[in-house]
Amino acid sequence: MRTQRQVVDYSLQKRAVLRELLAGRVGTYDVCDASPYLKNAARFHGEPTDERCPICRSENLIHVHYIYGDELKQSAGQARTLAELPVLAMTLREFQVFVVEVCLGCDWNHLVEQFLLGRDGLTGGGEGGPDQDAVGGGNAAATAPATRRRREAQR
Ligand SMILES: [Zn+2]
Repeated sequence: MRTQRQVVDYSLQKRAVLRELLAGRVGTYDVCDASPYLKNAARFHGEPTDERCPICRSENLIHVHYIYGDELKQSAGQARTLAELPVLAMTLREFQVFVVEVCLGCDWNHLVEQFLLGRDGLTGGGEGGPDQDAVGGGNAAATAPATRRRREAQR
C-alpha cells in the first residue's frame, strides 16, 4: 500500500510466544484464545494466507485488519477487508490499521503488524524516506503476499 507508514512488525513477539510454548512455560490454552468476535471477523472480513498455523498445523492463518482513528467515528475498531483499505486511505487523512492473524482451527491469534494509512502519507513526502528504508527489509516478505492478492482482487 503506497501510503502505508510507521509500520510496527510483531514477528519477534510472536516468535517469543512460540518459544515459550515450546518450552512449556505457557500452554496452548493461554495463546489459543480467539474470541467469538475475532473469529467472526476472520470469517467475514478476513484475508486468507498461505501460512500454516504454527500451533495446530492443520489450518491456514487468516489476517484480520482492524481500523482505528478519530475520523472513522463509529467505524473505529471495526474489521475491514484488505480490499477496503486503499479506498479508506484515499478518503481519510490518517487512520491506524492493526493486522491480527487468526486460526479458525485452534483459535491461535497474534498481532502481526500495525501501520498508518491515509492521505497524509501522500502529501507529507519528506519524512517518508528513511522510515520506509528502515522497515523495508524486515517487512518485505510479510507484505508481499498481501500485495499480490490485492492486485488479483482488483482484476
Ligand atoms: Zn491452529
